[in-house]
Amino acid sequence: SPQIVWLRRDLRLADQPAFHAAAKSGPVIPVHVLDDGRAGDHAYGGASRWWLHHSLESLGATLGSHHSRIVLRRGDAPQVLASLAEETGATCIHALRHYEPWWKEAEDELRDALPDGRELCLYDGNYLLPPGSVTTGSGDPYKIYTPFSKAMLERMPPREPLPEPDTIHSPESWPESDALADWSLLPTRPDWAGGMREFWEVGETAACERLNWWADEVASYDNGRNLPSEDMTSRLSPHLHWGEISPAQVWHKLKDKRSEGWRVFAKELIWRDYAQNVIDQFPDYPRDSYRTYDERKLWRNPKMGHLIQSDLERWQRGMTGYPVVDAGMRQLWQTGWMHNRVRMIAASFLVKHLLIDWRFGEQWFWDTLVDADYGNNGVNWQWISGTGVDSNMFVRIMAPLTQSEKFDSAGYIREYVPELAKLSDAEIHDPADSRRGAYPKKMIGHKEARERALAAYAEAKG
Ligand code: FAD
Repeated sequence: SPQIVWLRRDLRLADQPAFHAAAKSGPVIPVHVLDDGRAGDHAYGGASRWWLHHSLESLGATLGSHHSRIVLRRGDAPQVLASLAEETGATCIHALRHYEPWWKEAEDELRDALPDGRELCLYDGNYLLPPGSVTTGSGDPYKIYTPFSKAMLERMPPREPLPEPDTIHSPESWPESDALADWSLLPTRPDWAGGMREFWEVGETAACERLNWWADEVASYDNGRNLPSEDMTSRLSPHLHWGEISPAQVWHKLKDKRSEGWRVFAKELIWRDYAQNVIDQFPDYPRDSYRTYDERKLWRNPKMGHLIQSDLERWQRGMTGYPVVDAGMRQLWQTGWMHNRVRMIAASFLVKHLLIDWRFGEQWFWDTLVDADYGNNGVNWQWISGTGVDSNMFVRIMAPLTQSEKFDSAGYIREYVPELAKLSDAEIHDPADSRRGAYPKKMIGHKEARERALAAYAEAKG
């Protein structure tokens, strides 16, 4: 009897345990349901919708080469899938587990909605180890990264990746599918995705090619990862987020590298697992501060006044007057991605220099990143803002100009802030007002911002 594979952020054929199990059990009906209502304030942002469109298109083409296809439906996922199971006579819906609270809920609802004789079969496969499975000696999940990472490393490598299914049998007749174009996931007017089309190749094949390239580069990651002017990080984040490649595939491809670069990189992959462990324990973590300061005394809230709103907009548009921050925010807008070092500098600038509530930054990143990830984004924003379970301290305030020089971002600034392209390496990090031309003056001086942030923090702590 037919088997449904419910695809979400796991848009690949290799090392896809749900797909693998379905293909062994009968004819396969791969399905993606666009369920816009379920995630509330974390419904897909614009950049995510763009990526999703191309990733579905790419997977559809790959399935086509196996004489299969992907069925697209829109609506409440549990309802849609339960009726599709009836319609097709499928006995089992196979799916990878996802840990966002709305997906966990959907899995429970689907189990309840399925008619007798049909079941939901869930598998793990998007993380190195199933979130929640690595525990302390007393059986509790870890809250802090360092001991979590140590425990993870003791359990590595992850299981061997599964191959692509050899054959994918088609059902006798295909259920109807929406046309992808009718979902309007791509921007039309204005078409803001030109920079993204140039920067990215989307899909499983592109993810594997990038990984092959990265295998030759990973050795220099320990030194290169902090240099935004260089292409010295993997840029696998959207591929991992959308599940076009699994972390087990990444691990096994690189594990024999034995370089310092690989050791540092492995710990970054573990950060990704760590973030899922955090949202598994605290499902609202990307929405609520974990530490309880008196936040009304800490943040300037853009909803409370025009001036604060306009500060937020200057940050969003890359017009703060701090070249490295603006280069980052413009890279984000153009490409849907930002270098990690600059994400830290730009995020810290919003919460500490501008004292704007981290949630406004989290939401902007959510809308504009192609790798926007509920766990990774929430955990990193709370880490930067000093409000999280495992945080950088609020009083450690990053100095954007020093960071810019230290990590040699002149080339990066030239690329994304072309108004400053003619300035020398020495002056581009912090141009004199007379050398800025049309580029804005600094919104606030570093010293003044630092003092304001420390005073607000002292008051909020009480
Ligand atoms: P690499 O340096 O090559 O790292 C390899 C992989 O490890 C990444 O692809 C990613 O999956 C994982 N990883 C690396 N750093 C982290 C980290 N700090 N936390 C969790 N996983 C990590 N990453 C996202 O995937 N989605 C987000 O929404 C996101 N939001 C962020 C928000 C802020 C404020 C900050 C400071 C960081 C955020 N990150 C996020 C983490 C990190 O910046 C990106 O994962 C990284 O820049 C992606 O580029 P890369 O693939 O070249 O990373």
